[in-house]
Amino acid sequence: MRLEYDASFILQCQRCLEPMEERVSRGASFVIVGGNSIPAGIPEDHEPVELAGDRFQPAGFVEDELIMSLPLIPRHARPEQCGALVRSLEPPEDESDTDSTITPLAKH
Ligand SMILES: [Zn+2]
Repeated sequence: MRLEYDASFILQCQRCLEPMEERVSRGASFVIVGGNSIPAGIPEDHEPVELAGDRFQPAGFVEDELIMSLPLIPRHARPEQCGALVRSLEPPEDESDTDSTITPLAKH
């Protein structure tokens, strides 16, 4: 059995504390097992899923998978994405003025 899903979450970036969207797109292959015996020969990329009661509940399975795939510490993928909102509210800092590594291009 194979399950594909994707979902997006609004998480709070732990670096700049602004909301960020985390998109999770995954597929999972699983094998339904019953009772206490996990049958041999399950491929490594298949997850054995034990039935809760006598019904397989995909929603619960997906929920578990999504929770596991979410980052523990959500952060913007790139540092420059951080604080974009904050920066837009503050006057921009011109860092190039203090950058002493810039050498004049024109030479006589
Ligand atoms: Zn951020």
